Amino acid sequence: MDTELRHCPVNKHLSILDITDSPLCRACMKTDETPKHVMLQCNGVVEQRAAHLGSSSPQQHFKKQLATWAAF
Ligand SMILES: [Zn+2]
Repeated sequence: MDTELRHCPVNKHLSILDITDSPLCRACMKTDETPKHVMLQCNGVVEQRAAHLGSSSPQQHFKKQLATWAAF
């Protein structure tokens, strides 16, 4: 993520900036590629998400994270 511009290099943003032709997700080609879609919904990046989060379900990952924070 480009923290200075507050933009992620996802196709939805890149198409608005006229850098790419399509806003569709490169992994599934079914809907606009947005940060929310890639991080929480896309079935095309399940393996990468699991490797990064340590869980195949982003909801499980965030529940564990919240439980850890609530323990403090
Ligand atoms: Zn997708």
